[in-house]
Amino acid sequence: MHDDAVIDRPLEAQGLFSPSVWSGRIFNGKWSESAGDPLTVVEPATGATLGVVGASTPASVAEAVSRAARAQEAWGDLAATDRSRVLRKAASLLEDNYDTLIEWIVRETGGLRAKAETELKGTIGELEHSAALFIEPEGNVLHSPDPQRLSIARRVPLGVIGVITPWNFPLLLAMRSVAPALAMGNAVVLKPDPQTPITGGVVLAQIFAEAGLPEGVLQICNGGADVGEALVTAAEVRMITFTGSTRVGRRVGELAGQHVKKVALELGGKSPFIVLDDADLDAAASAGAWGSFLHQGQICMASGRHIVVRNVVEPYLEALRERAERLKVGNPFREEVALGPIINRRQVERVHELVTTSLAAGARLVAGGQYEGAFYRPTVLGDVQPGMPAYDHEIFGPVAPVIIAENEDHALKLANDTEYGLSAAVQTASLERGLRVARRLRAGMVHINDQTISDLPWIPMGGMGQSGNGSRFGTTTNAEEFTQWQWMTVGGTPARYPF
Ligand code: NAD
Repeated sequence: MHDDAVIDRPLEAQGLFSPSVWSGRIFNGKWSESAGDPLTVVEPATGATLGVVGASTPASVAEAVSRAARAQEAWGDLAATDRSRVLRKAASLLEDNYDTLIEWIVRETGGLRAKAETELKGTIGELEHSAALFIEPEGNVLHSPDPQRLSIARRVPLGVIGVITPWNFPLLLAMRSVAPALAMGNAVVLKPDPQTPITGGVVLAQIFAEAGLPEGVLQICNGGADVGEALVTAAEVRMITFTGSTRVGRRVGELAGQHVKKVALELGGKSPFIVLDDADLDAAASAGAWGSFLHQGQICMASGRHIVVRNVVEPYLEALRERAERLKVGNPFREEVALGPIINRRQVERVHELVTTSLAAGARLVAGGQYEGAFYRPTVLGDVQPGMPAYDHEIFGPVAPVIIAENEDHALKLANDTEYGLSAAVQTASLERGLRVARRLRAGMVHINDQTISDLPWIPMGGMGQSGNGSRFGTTTNAEEFTQWQWMTVGGTPARYPF
């Protein structure tokens, strides 16, 4: 399918992203010697080495943060329109390098071309929308008890923002923080997941440097938990945005709390997909299969529990089985497939364990349940019940657990029976019922007659409960998220007091 693959071409043909620029190095404003042992990046579909990136150490993180803090002062003082120009140039560089970037995303994340295109277009959208943030008012003029004194509340940059990201959509999930943070006058230290430091780090370093971002304003730190914790605890980092698991999010939140920092946590999910008895079952099965199998289920908003009213459950399971069995699984870089590989072997084993322990607890295998290497077959489980692993835990694999509900009220009760609250969906022929259910779903994002995976640059993206701490990404909220309030009063003559 990709006979003339860009990545297989000579390195110099890859232009901006040529490994000859970044291989074995770390970006601290320019490409420099690795502080820690370099990291090997492995293609999940084949196990082949895609590249080697430089790594950070806790000490080099502290230096990166200090460099970012120094560079932030001038960047924050620039006219917002000048910052915006850098972001627009970065967006156009992503457009110019579209095909090269699609191939890097496909190979590094193991996703389909369609997933890579969604990710890249979304990333360009994040830049374009962030570039327009300066049209937002910078604050308010407040009532002043002294008419000679002006009282203003204004939004000012936080300073240095630490951004920690996962491996499933590394470019997009980095950019949704990096772009608005830069637009609002902050410097950024980005720590991508060690499995995806090329599209999650190298690409951002290269496009921003080429777009004219002043040296030092963006720093990349590569590494695992020790590097992440060094970033969270560095004194000059005033805000952390973290996207990842709830388990690690709790730790990041705890450390940020100890160091009195703002923290935005975007965490896991177990999103309910409700099918009521009047739903169009064919459309529901199509949406349900997409919601559970897209990118092998490795999406925070994946449809994690299909809650189906009893009298339509068998035809729904049959429609889902038929789809699961027809979907082709393989290497998306080389073949036309519907599902690619799982990110690593440990995660394949975890998915399989959740499936087999649920079967042992009484669930019914309707489709799938097998794997070969990194390739897990789309799996449908029937008769799943509360207390089974497939009901209780985020699977992050291509598994659709189907749970029977007795009626609409029971479906709603099951849907809200989770500590998470990221996304939710309901399928019904009645808009009235759809609205009635949607209003009572406890989730940050709710869809009527759709599935649970959806995101756009301008929506308030985020979750409730253990899916997040109330932060929201998107242009509706970014101007607030990435700044802090300052109250300023201004008088032409010095104030006088009885003392
Ligand atoms: P993870 O929590 O294991 O890792 C995420 C990032 O945290 C990585 O960069 C990792 O190196 C870093 N990290 C690990 N330990 C750390 C520590 N102690 N301190 C600081 N950083 C640390 O998550 P993952 O397995 O890479 O990603 C999958 C999870 O992310 C799923 O739970 C998924 O639902 C969630 N997710 C959420 C969203 C969202 O927007 N809500 C989006 C994508 C993924």
